[in-house]
Parts: sequence; C-alpha cells; structure tokens
Amino acid sequence: MAKILRAIRGMHDLLPEQMGRWHWVEDSARRLLESYGYEEIRTPLLEPTELFQRSIGEVTDIVEKEMYSFQDRNGELLSLRPEGTASCVRAAIEHNLLDRPQRLWYRGPMFRRERPQKGRYRQFHQIGAEVFGLAGPDIDQELILLTHRLWKILGLSGLRLAINSLGDAEDRHRYREALVQYLEARQDMLDEDSRRRLATNPLRILDSKNPDMQALIAEAPSILDFLGKEAQEHFSQLCEGLGNAGIAFRVNPRLVRGLDYYNRTVFEWITDALGAQGTLCAGGRYDGLVEQLGGRSVPAVGFALGLERLVALLESLPAQAAPALDAYLVAVGERAQAAALVLAEQLRDQSPDLRLCCHCGGGSFKSQFKKADRSGARYALILGEEELERGVMGIKPLRDQGPQIEKPLASVVDFLLAARTADPTE
Ligand code: ATP
Ligand code: MG
Repeated sequence: MAKILRAIRGMHDLLPEQMGRWHWVEDSARRLLESYGYEEIRTPLLEPTELFQRSIGEVTDIVEKEMYSFQDRNGELLSLRPEGTASCVRAAIEHNLLDRPQRLWYRGPMFRRERPQKGRYRQFHQIGAEVFGLAGPDIDQELILLTHRLWKILGLSGLRLAINSLGDAEDRHRYREALVQYLEARQDMLDEDSRRRLATNPLRILDSKNPDMQALIAEAPSILDFLGKEAQEHFSQLCEGLGNAGIAFRVNPRLVRGLDYYNRTVFEWITDALGAQGTLCAGGRYDGLVEQLGGRSVPAVGFALGLERLVALLESLPAQAAPALDAYLVAVGERAQAAALVLAEQLRDQSPDLRLCCHCGGGSFKSQFKKADRSGARYALILGEEELERGVMGIKPLRDQGPQIEKPLASVVDFLLAARTADPTE
C-alpha cells in the first residue's frame, strides 16, 4: 500500500464539522470591523525576508528562529509571513494609501516555526486591524473598545485587559540603560536567551516566558517611570478614556510585546481559560515603522487576535451549526436521473438563496433516500419517471413524520422557502 502522508507538524486541517464556529467568529469580526469603518486588505502570504527583518527586528524570536524562509529560484530570499502588520505597512506605502488616515483590517494564516503545543501552532490564523495617520489616544481607545465589543458579541466573559506604554524612542533609550544596569547586576540569574539579549535587545527579556525569570522581571525598573511628558499624557488620556467607557484594565509595566516596532501604547487581552497560551489578542502603537520601511512619517496603531485561541475559548459555548439544506434531490430511473441536474438548476434559478443538494452517483431509491436523510436536509425532493412526465416533484419531510406531498415544479421553491420561515430554528 502507498505510504500515507500527513500534514506538517503544527499545521492543521480544519474539518467541515469545525467550520460552523470558525465562520461565526470570522463573520462576526468582519461585520463588526466594517461597522466601525474599517476596510479589508489582502496581502500575499510570501514577502521578501527583508521586510520582516527590518520591521519585527533582527533580535526577536520570530526573526531569529521562527520564520519559514527559503531562497527562490532567482536567489531572492522569501519568507512566509509570520504576522500581518509588516505586510500592511508595505502595501500601504507601495500603493500610496498614506496621504490620508486609513482604517484597515485583514485576516488569514500566519506561519511561525514555534514548538507546537495547545494554542501554539506553526500555521495559525489571525484577524487584525491597522490604523494609519492617527496619532492621538482616541484611536488606541477605539481599537480596544472594538475588541471589547467583539468579546461581547461572541458571548465571552472573563477576559482581562493589560495595557502599558513603551514611551517614545528617547524614553526607551533611557529606560534601556536603567534596565541593563539592573540586569547586569544580576547576570547569574539570567537564562541563556536573556544573557544574549542583554547586549542586543534587553527589553525583550521582559517578554521571557521562562517561569524562572519571572521574579527577576517583576522587580525590574518600570518603564512608566521613564516616560516623557507627551508619552505620559497620551497614556493617561488613554487610561481615562477607557475608564469613561467602563472598560476594566490593569496597567502592567512589564508588558513589552514580542516585536520590536512598538512605541507608546501596548495592550493584551488575556484569558485564564486556555492555560499557558492565554494571550488572545495583542496590539499597540508603532509610530516609527512606516518611516523605517521607507514611507512618510505616519503614526500607526493596530492589533491582531489569534483565531485558534478564540475558537478554542468558544468550544464551551453551544455549537453554531451551518444552516441546514432545504432539500436533497433524489432521482430514480434513467430518464429522471439524466434530467435531475438540469431541473435542480431551474430550481436554483428561482431563488439564489435555495440550499439544495442534488444526488449524484445513481443507486437505488432506498440508498439515495438514506443519503438524503443523512444530509440533514429538511425535505427530500423525489423525481421518478412518472413525476418527470407530469412536471411535478414529490416532497417528503425528513425531520418529521409528515406525509409525502406533490407540487408542480414551478412552486417547489416557494414551498421550501415558506417551510423555512415556519421553522423556529431558522
Ligand atoms: P505569544 O506571547 O502567545 O507568543 P505573541 O506575542 O507572539 O503571542 P502576536 O505576535 O502579537 O503574539 O500575535 C497576536 C495573537 O496571535 C496572539 O495573541 C495569539 O492569540 C496569536 N498567536 C501568535 N502566535 C501564535 C501561534 N504560534 N499559534 C497560535 N496563535 C498564535
Ligand atoms: Mg510569540
């Protein structure tokens, strides 16, 4: 027997039975984002590796060891995108979108070669938003309110909001010095990764997931003591705005996020219900990135949420079944079978909304009827030679014990759609 191939470790198939919940989450998020005036953007899954090196930062887990990169046939170095922000910025610069404020959103798969575990995969999906051209704390607040509303729509409770400010470049510079001083005095308590980062990117150390490092991190100097006047004002206005909107939050001065481009506001929505992988959604401001990637100096802020984690959180809620088929068309006899697909098209012409599955593959009436039953359809449409001749179809309810009736072809669709409105589960 031929060898059976499997999906790549950390990359998962989403099977039909799972899609109801995914669609529900994706559709809810899409409707919500659009209702706030955000417009969708789709960018390629492959980008020049340099885009991520220059944006996410050379000394980050993602760029150091998690990217799927390869050389194209012409020698160009390419990477599967590990996140969406860099691509959005590239596209916004490339297509001159930055001469006015933009509210953009995206969704799609991201790729990181992490150690697979619950809530952490090598291909995962994000929905994110990026806003360009707005500098004030009001838009930071809007993004947080929007995500908060999404949790509400999805019926999620118990999510905690953590926020922090990373200040402006100068503030961070001064903080960095203080942090290095603190950490250098405690070198022996640092793990290997952190010791290396001490020279290259000390703020990253605060983002360490190593439990042995947490006490050291908790005692480290706080960036909030280093904020300049403007960054401080921005942050206090955001806190005040969130308070006014009735959003509970906690200021966490060690929150730095895993990417280098953030400044001022950073935030995370966290849950306790998913074990170690508790960050559901993360975002922040990245005012320098557009210029860093060759565009004009344009302020920017955004977030991304992980769909696998969100869907996992919703698993405790009742499943969202896909809408049932209205009917399954069963055709018995050679001539009826030959006509079935054509008649099905005529029914579909009558209403683009009709959910009709037409039996393919022949077989006895009994075996076709069994498939009709299994399809979950509300009715079986029955087409025999005799029905064909008379221009009618038999209609047999599959969900209850009602009698089989008969309708002329022209009124089958009306009947099926009317039955839908009579059904309380629709
Ligand atoms: P974490 O701290 O959990 O590693 P991160 O800081 O790398 O997250 P971001 O890059 O900001 O996260 O991505 C935003 C969101 O995308 C995360 O909060 C999470 O929900 C999701 N996410 C990130 N990496 C993965 C992954 N490998 N598998 C599944 N979801 C992920
Ligand atoms: Mg990560």
